[in-house]
Amino acid sequence: MALIKTKGIVIREVSYNDTDKMLSLITEDLGKISVSAKNAKRNGTRSSYGTQVLTYGEYVLFKGSSGYHLNSCDVIMNYYNLAKDLVCFTHAAHILEMAEDAAKDSEISSRILVLLLYALQALSKGRNPLLISSAFALKLMQICGYPPHVSNCAVCDTYDIESIYFSFKSCGFICENCAKQDTDAVMLDTGAAKGMLYVLCAEKGGIFNFELSDKVLSVFSTVAFRYISQQHDKSYRKLEILKNLNNIN
Ligand SMILES: [Zn+2]
Repeated sequence: MALIKTKGIVIREVSYNDTDKMLSLITEDLGKISVSAKNAKRNGTRSSYGTQVLTYGEYVLFKGSSGYHLNSCDVIMNYYNLAKDLVCFTHAAHILEMAEDAAKDSEISSRILVLLLYALQALSKGRNPLLISSAFALKLMQICGYPPHVSNCAVCDTYDIESIYFSFKSCGFICENCAKQDTDAVMLDTGAAKGMLYVLCAEKGGIFNFELSDKVLSVFSTVAFRYISQQHDKSYRKLEILKNLNNIN
């Protein structure tokens, strides 16, 4: 039986039977995979090691007729500390969900894994969770091959733009004249437009190395999350819990 070694992060764990778990991993070279982990619910056993969500490790697997099975894991890093803070953890869960949807394509899963690790690292360091998750959404769309058009007006091609709008119909920046025909476009202040350009141009850990005021971040994150929802044709609802909590308080 040939063993396969791959680095990956656990993005989902589901219990089955009394003792076993089914894991979803985003891996460096196998794309997003499901892995059956027998006896993983027995605390202290070798097979329970490395099977929790937010564990990054080197996994040794074998492939059976019904898919991958866990043999062992060397934990490289875990991000369990994010669970201590509800806001942080909710954004981490949102990031995992967006990554899971994007990683269906195994060709880009290694780039998604790297982006994911930098985002979780930034969250662990106490960076603004809304900034990290919205920058993640935008960069993820670029990695997936759907970067928004930001070099000039996506409709009339002009570079002479006084007020920048973001068009969901044209998937990018448009000028004030074209915005008159696109009532759904969102006006971006310079800070939000610069933030988007920064994220699209930055690489690796630098992607999250910027700051926005709360007001600018509110526009930036609204556009980034709506853009990924549109591209994935899906409503992401994890952050709604935070909005509801704010309304209660
Ligand atoms: Zn235009």
